[in-house]
Amino acid sequence: MTFDSVVIVDWSAASAPSPARPSADAIWIGEARGGVAESSYLRTRAAAEAWLRARIATARRNGERLLVGADFAFGYPAGFAQVLTGRAEALAVWEWLAGEVTEGPGNSNDRFEVAARMNRAFPGLGPFWFNPKSHDIPDLPRKGSMRHGYGALAQMREVDGRAKGAQSVWKLGGAGSVGSQVLTGLPVLWRLRAQGGVAVWPFEPWDGAPVVLAEVFPSLLASEVAALIPSGRRKNDAPVKDDVQVRLLALVLARLGESGAIDSLFAPGAPDEILREEGWTLGVGSEELLQDAAREVGEAALPNRPAASAPVEPPRLRDDCFALPQGVRWVPVDTALQRLRAALHPLTGTLDLPTGDADGHVLAQDVPAARSHPPAPNAAVDGYGFAYAATGGGVQRLPLVDGRAAAGQPYRQEVPAGTAIRILTGASLPDGVDTVILEEDTALDGAAIVFDGPVRRGANTREAGEDVVAGTPALRAGRRLTPPDLALLSALGVGEVAVHRRLRVAVLSTGDELVAAPAADTPPDRIHDANRPMLRALAARWGFDAVDLGCQPDDPQAIAAALDRGAASADAVLVSGGASAGDEDHVSRLLRARGHLSSWRIALKPGRPLALAMWDGTPVFGLPGNPVAAFVCALIFARPALSLLAGAGWVEARGFDVAAAFSKDKKPGRREYLRACLDAQGRAEVFASEGSGRISGLSWATGLVELPDAACTVRPGTRVRYFPFAEFGIA
Ligand code: AMP
Ligand code: MG
Repeated sequence: MTFDSVVIVDWSAASAPSPARPSADAIWIGEARGGVAESSYLRTRAAAEAWLRARIATARRNGERLLVGADFAFGYPAGFAQVLTGRAEALAVWEWLAGEVTEGPGNSNDRFEVAARMNRAFPGLGPFWFNPKSHDIPDLPRKGSMRHGYGALAQMREVDGRAKGAQSVWKLGGAGSVGSQVLTGLPVLWRLRAQGGVAVWPFEPWDGAPVVLAEVFPSLLASEVAALIPSGRRKNDAPVKDDVQVRLLALVLARLGESGAIDSLFAPGAPDEILREEGWTLGVGSEELLQDAAREVGEAALPNRPAASAPVEPPRLRDDCFALPQGVRWVPVDTALQRLRAALHPLTGTLDLPTGDADGHVLAQDVPAARSHPPAPNAAVDGYGFAYAATGGGVQRLPLVDGRAAAGQPYRQEVPAGTAIRILTGASLPDGVDTVILEEDTALDGAAIVFDGPVRRGANTREAGEDVVAGTPALRAGRRLTPPDLALLSALGVGEVAVHRRLRVAVLSTGDELVAAPAADTPPDRIHDANRPMLRALAARWGFDAVDLGCQPDDPQAIAAALDRGAASADAVLVSGGASAGDEDHVSRLLRARGHLSSWRIALKPGRPLALAMWDGTPVFGLPGNPVAAFVCALIFARPALSLLAGAGWVEARGFDVAAAFSKDKKPGRREYLRACLDAQGRAEVFASEGSGRISGLSWATGLVELPDAACTVRPGTRVRYFPFAEFGIA
């Protein structure tokens, strides 16, 4: 029997959509065709069903023969189908389940309730068991040992007993369990079968069918898969096991189809009554055949690039990324910002961090809610809960049931209509309760509460998911996580996040006159390095790791050596000093000779020359030496550029207009930033001296006033644009 294509589905019963970043324990579909395997990662069952429906339709249209293998049991132990459906046939169970299991949005579904319903068709308690919910589900025991007297059903199917590692279909959860996959998978297969041209092996004649559905067990190739996955590679880099597994099994079955050896898999030699009711797993009993073929297929099953969509380390910047077009000599601030933004891209790879350790890190992926918040309807106040429908206008008297519902201590019985239960803030609403009345609005009358009706339906309750619904995006890639974000992600059940590695920013000061360590007795012809402590602290406040390259004299060799260290240890370098065109400007000369320098003369005061270069593949931002200018250029240019490199996107400070408390006649040509403070009336004062050497003005200021590129006249009361330092990430 040959197939044009073999599709292998690794199913998942997850109750929320799988993470955006391809991960294990999600739905993976592998397809082999012409000796080549490809895989798809589907985040929900609905998406997988749509994928399979479309694939089958294409095969039918093109006259292809397709084998679709799914990795869950197609039947239950003998005797089950007869009791549940009146017919001793697996397909009768498929039909029954398709009518009962409801899939809600975002992978939510009611399989546990359906399992309880099936248990009710049997005497005693069982056979299905396991319940992960906080409330008991009547007739669904939490433990396997609690089951009793549900008839002569075996724990395992015949075939499960022969497959190493197979689990009982009755167990609906816990490590390695398959029961929930069967419950959520069979309804999907039933609907796919209804497409026509689809035969289910071994229940229907499959020989001539264009599309054959068969049960498979990828774990039969567990060691062959393990041998393919390189050990010791970084987690981000290694292919996802499920991905390799579905590709490998698809390739193996396709190969056995070509050689004709597959026919023996379809004739396992088990009794017909067993096959009809329990089904069989393709390949059980022929493990060696599969394993030999798997070894021949080998590396063809590996994804050609890491399945994780985010690269481990993104490509570096090009050496000519800062080049200006010919003839450009003078760049307005906005143009400079646009060019900078276009020249850069994120430089840091990603890693997974526990949510609690991720403050200040930049998300590398959108994060969907792993579950809803709140997860279940609950009480918003301390009071009494009851069914709204049994209340009306006028004085209401509701007898209290025994017991109470508190946060973490659910009341597990139903509260009958017309009665009330003591309920505390945060408690899950018990069955029968949809409305809560505030304790203060009631009076106790013996074992009953009394209050004035009518009340509003749903009063004082919180709905499940009223804050965030499972599966919806909670936070987007590029967000720098804040303490409240950690609260949100934790509430939504997100225990781990993919974040960018922190950007490393090296800081270097240059100048013969500089003394690294501040001291009172430094000779008057020397000055202390003020830029390096400032720039290192800015980098740290912006969420980067600062690397100190020290303070170097105007000596090309010393500066080159420091830049070498910077390029080797950091993602970007901030250099101050030596960036104008004077004789001593070794930095410019050095960068021109070895660093692909592009000197941007920006129409900005204070500031002007911004030296942008690539040193050994690492971007270098050459800031003015003057501390005031270095500060302004760092805020206006370096901050958004570094943010982009860090994966957090380009950031723009938001200013607002305030009345000026100063006068100024500004000439046209250059944009100006003035050190400013708001006075008691909220008007912007500027520092008394505009002298760009006055560091005290920086320390005095709480923000910057921006005056436009064009000429302007400012008088007290004129509206000017003010940017608080907090808008530049300095809080
Ligand atoms: P430059 O860009 O090297 O021509 O320097 C311009 C002015 O800034 C000169 O007065 C320098 O002494 C001063 N300067 C340069 N670097 C620093 C620094 N790291 N700390 C304080 N002042 C500096
Ligand atoms: Mg200098």
